[in-house]
Amino acid sequence: MHEMGIVLHLAKTLDEAAEENHITKYGSVTLEVGEVSGIMTDYFTDCWDYFKSRHPLLKDSVLKLETIKAYTHCESCGAAYETVKYGKECPHCHSTETWLITGNQCLIKEVEAETDEDDAEAVQEEA
Ligand SMILES: [Zn+2]
Repeated sequence: MHEMGIVLHLAKTLDEAAEENHITKYGSVTLEVGEVSGIMTDYFTDCWDYFKSRHPLLKDSVLKLETIKAYTHCESCGAAYETVKYGKECPHCHSTETWLITGNQCLIKEVEAETDEDDAEAVQEEA
């Protein structure tokens, strides 16, 4: 249910953006998904497809997922290293005083959308 929760959260964000920007329809939604976000992309896509079929704004949208590599910073030697490869222990000095820099996010990177302002502009040009 983790994935469905994220889908619902993202949909809420997209709904709010739609209201603010007079968006009538989303064409595509690009998400940045971190390597260690814990999201299973196949399952996530299934959830998204299930959800969008009953959500008018997203009905015809295409979901694009971009995987973001996870990096960890080592507090002891200052190095940054690949989290998935080495885990919590720094491969340079073997310290475990490390923290994740990036890689656990699930963010909307960009969207393509149609707005009712497009129509408004077209009308103005004609006049
Ligand atoms: Zn280190």
